Amino acid sequence: MPSAYLLLGSNLGDRTAILREAVAHLTATAGTLVAASSLYETAAWGLEDQPAFLNQAICLHTSLLPIPLLEACQAAEQRAGRERLVRWGARTLDVDILLYDDLILETARLTLPHPRLPERRFVLVPLTEIAAAVVHPSLGCTVAELLAVCPDTLEVQQLP
Ligand code: AMP
Repeated sequence: MPSAYLLLGSNLGDRTAILREAVAHLTATAGTLVAASSLYETAAWGLEDQPAFLNQAICLHTSLLPIPLLEACQAAEQRAGRERLVRWGARTLDVDILLYDDLILETARLTLPHPRLPERRFVLVPLTEIAAAVVHPSLGCTVAELLAVCPDTLEVQQLP
């Protein structure tokens, strides 16, 4: 069964409960949970006068194809009552597909691997916890290697 790595993020409301609910929803609708990182807190990226984000990376074994998986992620976002008022603005829940096996895809709705995966420590730090040795299919290096050379300087703090 394909392995999909997802990044969940929340910076509004009870962030921990929102992430917990989202993982429960995704495991009910999209696949079997095989790994989950710790929760990490990061200052908001882009617009900085908003609450800090909590992020978590998870791995699902999924029988869904990529677009149905994206729809399941978006259903989890809707369920969390996400409101998108401003690009980069606060949101109760954001779910991105980082990797889907070693699939490379570029369509209007979905780009895989996620195009911003190599750029941001808040993605790479949680992902490294559960997928350090996984190889990025188009860059040809591991997630841990991407983190080692990532130029982003935002602090990503692991929560106990
Ligand atoms: P955002 O929530 O701002 O990260 O972007 C959401 C939009 O990005 C959606 O309309 C998706 O169709 C599109 N998208 C493209 N590639 C991905 C991906 N790998 N994971 C999640 N959304 C994606």
